Amino acid sequence: MSNVRRNEFKVVIVTGVPGVGKTTVLSLAQRKANERGLKLKVLNFGDYMLENAVKKGLLSNRDQIRYLSFRGQLELQAAAATAMVEEAGRELSERDFLMVDTHAVVKTPLGYLPGLPSHVITILKPDMIVLVEADPKEIAARQQRDSTRYRSDFGGEEGVREIIEMSRYAAIASAVEVGSLVTIIRNAEGKAGEAAEQLINMISKL
Ligand code: ATP
Ligand code: AMP
Ligand code: MG
Repeated sequence: MSNVRRNEFKVVIVTGVPGVGKTTVLSLAQRKANERGLKLKVLNFGDYMLENAVKKGLLSNRDQIRYLSFRGQLELQAAAATAMVEEAGRELSERDFLMVDTHAVVKTPLGYLPGLPSHVITILKPDMIVLVEADPKEIAARQQRDSTRYRSDFGGEEGVREIIEMSRYAAIASAVEVGSLVTIIRNAEGKAGEAAEQLINMISKL
């Protein structure tokens, strides 16, 4: 393994359109993993970006991050990736998993921002990049139902379709850079538990 760039612990990056259910599935997966004696550390990339942006007085809410300046977002991304790997490195051993809740692309007013560009993916060095997917119409409905978040700038069903497409391209491009698996998991309506089960089954074989 000497020439293969990897962290000591396994790294799984979980991506998908806003509102598809990444955070929901990861929280269920964490519970299931505990029952099976697997150690998962689930970290949300946006939390790290938000904490730094709030410290800098730039914003107060996670759905404002994608409206920051392009270069500002790049800086926040790099800092988030570094902080997450440092934190995981203090707690995880080679049998454990760092699960990163994030996005393969972020839709910003100026265009699609890759969520896992070179300055992020070469720090995280994931074993697997997961794309959580669902029917675009159902995702748009989930976005609308969830009043805890602002997601009305994603263009409804058609917009979601485009983000799914861009996310697939972006995920494979990032995977090529460091050598990662890319896996699609469906989070069907009312079946987040099954998606979590599938995720755990998959990563336990890494
Ligand atoms: P974001 O990228 O914006 O953080 P997310 O992918 O983390 O979004 P969640 O916050 O987990 O999405 O879920 C969005 C909404 O969809 C929530 O209200 C959640 O309860 C609901 N949801 C998640 N999974 C399912 C499912 N399988 N069926 C129906 N609703 C679901
Ligand atoms: P989330 O709660 O996953 O939607 O994350 C909140 C916000 O953080 C997102 O809407 C993005 O603006 C930002 N974010 C999360 N992950 C990334 C990433 N990898 N690159 C750039 N921005 C990100
Ligand atoms: Mg989320």
